[in-house]
Amino acid sequence: MSIQSLNPKNGVENGRYHLFDTDMIESVLEQSQSAFLRHKNTGFDSRTRQILAVADYLDEHAQDLGLMITNEMGKLLSSAVAEVHKCAQLCRYYAENAEGILGDQLIETNARRSYVRYLPIGAILAVMPWNFPFWQVFRFAVPALMAGNVCLLKHASNVPECALEIERIFNQCGFDNGEFQTLLIKSSQVERVIADDRVRAVTLTGSEAAGSSVAAAAGKYLKKSVLELGGSDPFIVMPSADFDQSIDLAVRGRVQNNGQTCVASKRYIIHADIYDAFKTALVARYEALIVGDPCDKKTDIGPLSTHHIQVELDIQVQETLNMGAARLCGAHIIESEGHYYQPGLLENIPKGSPAYDNELFGPVGLLFKVADLDEAIALANDTRFGLGSVICTQDKIEIERAVNELDAGCTFVNALVASDARLPFGGAKASGYGRELSAEGIREFCNMKTIYIA
Ligand code: NAP
Repeated sequence: MSIQSLNPKNGVENGRYHLFDTDMIESVLEQSQSAFLRHKNTGFDSRTRQILAVADYLDEHAQDLGLMITNEMGKLLSSAVAEVHKCAQLCRYYAENAEGILGDQLIETNARRSYVRYLPIGAILAVMPWNFPFWQVFRFAVPALMAGNVCLLKHASNVPECALEIERIFNQCGFDNGEFQTLLIKSSQVERVIADDRVRAVTLTGSEAAGSSVAAAAGKYLKKSVLELGGSDPFIVMPSADFDQSIDLAVRGRVQNNGQTCVASKRYIIHADIYDAFKTALVARYEALIVGDPCDKKTDIGPLSTHHIQVELDIQVQETLNMGAARLCGAHIIESEGHYYQPGLLENIPKGSPAYDNELFGPVGLLFKVADLDEAIALANDTRFGLGSVICTQDKIEIERAVNELDAGCTFVNALVASDARLPFGGAKASGYGRELSAEGIREFCNMKTIYIA
C-alpha cells in the first residue's frame, strides 16, 4: 500500500510512498531502542553541536524546504520559508538553554543532599499534523533530542515528503544512528506502536478525535501523553482598543496559513459600541484578499490542504447558514483545479450550529456582538475548546479580567497568539494537556527523578 503526496494548488502528484509493513516497523523500533542506549549517554556538548548543525542547515536551505512545504500542503511560500527559519531559531534556543533547564535542582530537606535530576526516558512517538509540517515536528523533536530521548515520527499522510526530508536532515546533521526516524504508517497502526514496550511516551498534535484515540491507547498501555488539539479561539475587541490595529490583527489572525491554524482568531467577539464599524471595515478587508497561487508574492491565501478539508469546511458553513446565520461575504468553494476557498465572514451564528460548536479549519471568520466584557468572556468560554485567546483593549482592568477569566492555555493582549520557543504552549479543556516549548516542554518527556542522599 502507498500514500500519495499531492500539490493542493493543482492536484498534481509530487510523489508516492510505500507504507511500512510489519517488518519495517519492527526494524525501526529495534533501531530506536539501540539508538536510545547510545544517545542517552552522549553529553550536552555533542547534542548541542548536532542541533546547531540542524539550525544552520535549515537556514541555508530554507527556500528549497519552504517550496517543498508549499507544494505539499499549500501554505504561502513566504510563510513556509519563515516556518523553516523559525525551526532554526528553536534549535538555537534549546542548544543554548537545554543544559541549564535540565540541570540538577537542589532542594533542601533532612538529607545531606537532595535534588531532582531530569533523565531521558526513551523513544517518544510523535503523531503530527500537516498544517505546520516542519514546525510541529521540530518543536517536539528538538527538545526531545536535547534531553537525550529519541524520536519516532508518524506524520500526517498528506505530507510524506516533509516527513522523510526532516528525517534526512537530522540524519545528515549527526543524528545518524536512528535517533530520529519516520514511520510511514496509517493512523490505524498507531496504537500498535504505542503498545510496544520500546516506546515510552506519545505526543499528538491534531484533532480532538485523533487526540482522544491516542490518549485512550496511551492510557491502556500506561504511557505518558501530551496532546495539542484544536481550538476555536476568541478574539475580543473592546471600545478602547486601537481600531486599525485590531482590524489588522483580526484579518491576519484568521487567514494566516490559509486559515488553517489551531490558534487562529476564529471567533470575533466585538463590543456593541464598535460592532458596526468593525464589521464594515472587516468585510472590506476580507473582500480585498487575493486568493491564488501560494508561490505568487501577491497572494494572501493559497489553497486548502486537501479536497476533503475543503469539502468539510463548506459543509460546516452551509449547515450554519441553513440554521439561520448570515453570510457577510465569501465563505464558499472556488471552482478550480486546486482546493481554493473564498475567505468569508458570518454573523448571527446560532448556538448549536457547526460554526458555534466546532472548529472551522479554514478562512471563515465568525462575528459576535456583545454588550459588555461580562458577555464577551461568557461567550468566549462557551466552547469545549480552550487553546488560545486574544483581547484588544487599552483598559488595565479589562486586561486583568481577561487574564484571569478566559479559560484557555494563553491570553495575548493586543497581539496575535503565536508560539515562541521561550514560552510554554498548550491548551485547556478539549484543546489538550501538557505543554510544549520552553522549560516546561523539554521536561514533559523526562523522568523527573528524586535523589535523596542520607
Ligand atoms: P488530524 O486529522 O487529527 O491528524 C493529525 C495526526 O493524527 C495525523 O498524523 C493523522 O494521521 C493522525 N491521526 C488521525 N486520526 C488518528 C487516530 N484515530 N489515531 C492515531 N492517529 C490519528 O488533524 P489534522 O487535520 O492533521 O490537523 C488539524 C487539527 O490539528 C486541527 O484541529 C488543529 O486545530 C489541530 N492543531 C492543533 C495544534 C496545537 O498546537 N494545539 C497545532 C496544529 C494543529 P493521518 O493523516 O494518517 O490520518
